Amino acid sequence: MSGAAVDVRNVTKTYGSGATAYTALRGVDFVVHPGEFVMLSGPSGSGKTTLLSIIGCVLTASTGAVSLLGNDISKAKDGELAAMRLSHIGFVFQAHNLIASLSAQENIAMLLELRGYSKTEARREAASLLTQVGLADKLDNLPRDLSGGQRQRVAIARALAGSPPIILADEPTAALDAQNGLAVTELLRALAKEKGHTVVVVTHDNRIFHLADRIVRIEDGLIQENPT
Ligand code: ADP
Ligand code: MG
Repeated sequence: MSGAAVDVRNVTKTYGSGATAYTALRGVDFVVHPGEFVMLSGPSGSGKTTLLSIIGCVLTASTGAVSLLGNDISKAKDGELAAMRLSHIGFVFQAHNLIASLSAQENIAMLLELRGYSKTEARREAASLLTQVGLADKLDNLPRDLSGGQRQRVAIARALAGSPPIILADEPTAALDAQNGLAVTELLRALAKEKGHTVVVVTHDNRIFHLADRIVRIEDGLIQENPT
C-alpha cells in the first residue's frame, strides 16, 4: 500500500463506443498524499473534470487502477462507489449549486439530514461549518444575498459536511474576481494545511497557482512531466 490519499495508475476513460467513442484519459498516473494541496491544470477539454470525477467516485475508469486511502475502487459496484463518495469525498463545483430558496444554513442542514443527522443536530453542525469558513454572521442569508465569494464559501462548508478526508474542487474560482478567488483558494489551502484534508483543485486560473503545494499539468488526456 502506498499510503497515498489518491492513487490513480494508468487510468483510461473512453466515453461512448463505436464510431462516436472518445478517449478523454489515455493512461494517467496521479498520486496525492494526505494533507497535500494540489492543483490540476490544463486547457479546456484536456480531461480535468473527467479525472476529478473518477477520483470523486462519480465516474468509473475504463481501465487502470484507482485507490482512495488504500481502498481500491477500480472494480467497485455502483452502491459501493456511492458509499465511498459519501464517506470520503466532498465536492465543490464551479457554480455553487446552492438551492435558491434555502438559507446558507438550510442548504447545509438539508444535506446533513440526508446523511442521518436529526434536524437539531443538522442545524447546529451547519452553523459550525459556516463558522469555520468565516460566515458565522450569514447563516440566514439566501444565496442571492451573498457575494460570489461568500456563496462559494457556503459550497465549501457544504463539501465539509461529514468531514470527508478528500476535498475536490472543479474550477472553484472561475466565476470570482481576483480578490474573492484568492480568499476562496486560501480557505481551501487551510483545509489541507490546518485540518489535514487532502485537497485537489482543478483550475486554469493562474492568479492562484502560487498557493499550491504542487501543480500537475494535463494535456490531451495525459499528465505532462513537470518542466520545473
Ligand atoms: P476539461 O474538464 O479539462 O475541460 P473534460 O474532462 O470535461 O475536460 O472533457 C475531456 C474530453 O472528454 C472533452 O473532449 C470532452 O468533450 C469529452 N467528454 C467529456 N464528457 C463527455 C461525455 N459525457 N461524453 C462524451 N465526451 C465527453
Ligand atoms: Mg472541466
